[in-house]
Amino acid sequence: MKSAVLGGGLTGVTLARLLHEQGDDVIVLERNETIGGLCRSVREAGFTFDSGGSHILFSRDTEVLSFMLSVLGENADRRKRNTKILYKGRYVKYPFENGLYQLPDEDRFFCINEFVKNLIAVEKGEVPPPKNFAEWITCTFGRGIAECYMLPYNEKIWNYPASRMSHHWVEGRIPRPPVEDIIRSAIGIETEGYTHQAVFSYPVTGGIEALIRAIAGPILPVVRTGFAVTSIREEDGGFVVSDGRETVHADRLVSTIPLQNLLPALSDVPAEVQAACDALRYNSLCSVFIGLSGGVPDISWLYVPDPATGLFNRISFPSNYSTAVAPPGHSSILAEITYNDGDEVSAMTDDAVIEHTVTSLIAAGIIPSRENVVYTGVAREQFAYVVYDTEYQKNIKIVREFCRERSIDLVGRFSQFEYLNMDGCIRSAIDFVRTDG
Ligand SMILES: Cc1cc2nc3c(=O)[nH]c(=O)nc-3n(C[C@H](O)[C@H](O)[C@H](O)COP(=O)(O)OP(=O)(O)OC[C@H]3O[C@@H](n4cnc5c(N)ncnc54)[C@H](O)[C@@H]3O)c2cc1C
Repeated sequence: MKSAVLGGGLTGVTLARLLHEQGDDVIVLERNETIGGLCRSVREAGFTFDSGGSHILFSRDTEVLSFMLSVLGENADRRKRNTKILYKGRYVKYPFENGLYQLPDEDRFFCINEFVKNLIAVEKGEVPPPKNFAEWITCTFGRGIAECYMLPYNEKIWNYPASRMSHHWVEGRIPRPPVEDIIRSAIGIETEGYTHQAVFSYPVTGGIEALIRAIAGPILPVVRTGFAVTSIREEDGGFVVSDGRETVHADRLVSTIPLQNLLPALSDVPAEVQAACDALRYNSLCSVFIGLSGGVPDISWLYVPDPATGLFNRISFPSNYSTAVAPPGHSSILAEITYNDGDEVSAMTDDAVIEHTVTSLIAAGIIPSRENVVYTGVAREQFAYVVYDTEYQKNIKIVREFCRERSIDLVGRFSQFEYLNMDGCIRSAIDFVRTDG
């Protein structure tokens, strides 16, 4: 049986490798000239930056984590996470609820008081179940943590009102912090959150793309780059896939490309299915790369909730993940800005985005001066984040059902249209091969 895997990002190359390892005939069809998708890295002027935003390796899934680390072998460095939130000019420990002791007194009081008041109200059954993400945030953390950090940060990264987002994806995944931890954190006793990420790994050389290259090693001969899938036909119980110039025949089709790119390649898509697909929300990403002479703060990455500080929601310091990603005596910063077609950022030129980022980071005291900036660059990704709006569950069901009827398997972040990290993508690929392979 021959399988065609559409898309050569992390999911596509992992699927192809696993199918190949079990002796299947497989071909990967990737639109870009290079594989990697969101996990590509750019190397310029001695710096390496991850073009789909800063990536690190971590997972609660031990099988997946050991797969990622074993393919990287010697090319993996382990680092202790030191992550902060830039709050009113201070560096507050991340997650926010673990750094309350670093807040100004009034804000610390607001956060603890509202947390406790909310907890009592919840326990008395006075808080109705949340109907959207904004209500879930307040109901989980109280109005203080919600208003100081959670709501502004989430509205910045999602570029969408939290009150119009669904909360199904966080419920059960992010528990309410125990009140003891909130009190400890408020009086300065060390507490740790998100411990599965407290130590992370990163490739020593090559940026996150090194992981893709390591996974893809054995299957490079079956990867076809520069092949943008534009048409898919069913024929004799199989599929004929084309980029408008060449055709590829396969018995089975596994799509890892965004649904928004898959549907236009199919014929006779019912209007209701097309409308459901068009309504699926996603965010695009602008990554701004800055190479510096001299050092940067000893921080892994920094969340920036306040819109007044800059358009970016997160600043990371790749040279703190691996010293080999910047020339000796130099360091690097990667700023992430989410945007949507037609908004302020989508209309900005790359030069304008760079200028905004450098000026904002100098004002925030993160870059000492303009003279330190020795390299700048920008990369944009159309599909970066799935946005779970309140219509999401209804729409995704319609699109998935349609793909199932057409016998097209969906695996991967924008194919399943789920907020999957790298470990989630690899898990999906493993499970697919185990159950359907
Ligand atoms: C800012 C940011 C930070 C992240 N940080 C982390 C992190 O620290 N750790 C972590 O585990 N995960 C992280 N992730 C998530 C991670 O990037 C994704 O889970 C993973 O890269 C998704 O891989 P994929 O192959 O499913 O999708 P993609 O990478 O989107 O790959 C899809 C591929 O399909 C190709 N394609 C599209 N259309 C066509 C077509 N018509 N024909 C042929 N090919 C096509 C694309 O070119 C692309 O190569 C982050 C994501 C973002 C946006």
